[in-house]
Amino acid sequence: MSFLSLQGVTKRFGSVLALDDVVLTAPQGSRTAIVGPSGSGKSTLLRLLAGFDAPDTGRISLDGEVLADGPAAVPAHRRGIGLVAQEGALFPHLSVAENIGFGLPRGTAGRDARIRSLAGMVELDEDLLRRRPDALSGGQQQRVALARALARQPRLMLLDEPFSALDTGLRASTRKAVSALLDKAGVTTILVTHDQAEAMSFADQVAVMRNGRLLQVGPPRELYLQPSDETVASFLGPAI
Ligand code: ADP
Ligand code: MG
Repeated sequence: MSFLSLQGVTKRFGSVLALDDVVLTAPQGSRTAIVGPSGSGKSTLLRLLAGFDAPDTGRISLDGEVLADGPAAVPAHRRGIGLVAQEGALFPHLSVAENIGFGLPRGTAGRDARIRSLAGMVELDEDLLRRRPDALSGGQQQRVALARALARQPRLMLLDEPFSALDTGLRASTRKAVSALLDKAGVTTILVTHDQAEAMSFADQVAVMRNGRLLQVGPPRELYLQPSDETVASFLGPAI
């Protein structure tokens, strides 16, 4: 059985079929990029994985544990899954250090050292730790969000367009740093992105979505050379 597995996952919001019979697997340590037009169900898929919402039907399992079987779902805080969204959603009233350490029990030995080590992993200067998030640049804030997600040593890391608020130069350098970091941590990752180059360079496998359906899943090169239809081609194929 695959490390991560979604089988027949369906989710409806009123008349909108946000996810339509999604089947997806990912090996441990792998990186999956999910691409597709706005409204195709990418964020819904991540929210179901994170446990912020439950499928109507279908099953999600991680490392042999069933996380959701239809609406019966393991709560988010027991899943060991980290999520970084488009805007880091940091706690504005807490220092950077307290944001990073949010999931670490207070008053434990080594907590401060762990926070400093996490800051080092995402290449944040130590003198930023005492500041509030709004004193940091967008790229620095996303690194804080990533450090906070890594603090809990997640089994699975979900990144929902984490670099899209950054300008082009910063996006490239942040992507590179995050990529190296995830490699080092060896954590299985799913990245939602609008950016073809980002998907191609980041992922072992790319999944293309439209209207709640997974159109094609495969290695970047395979989708690039043999797109199954025009949507896949328009996202990943060579420019015509
Ligand atoms: P994407 O992330 O690919 O842009 P989403 O997963 O956010 O797409 O949305 C997929 C579809 O589901 C859209 O039509 C969206 O309007 C709808 N949707 C998502 N979340 C909700 C919700 N909480 N209530 C109602 N409709 C929703
Ligand atoms: Mg989205």
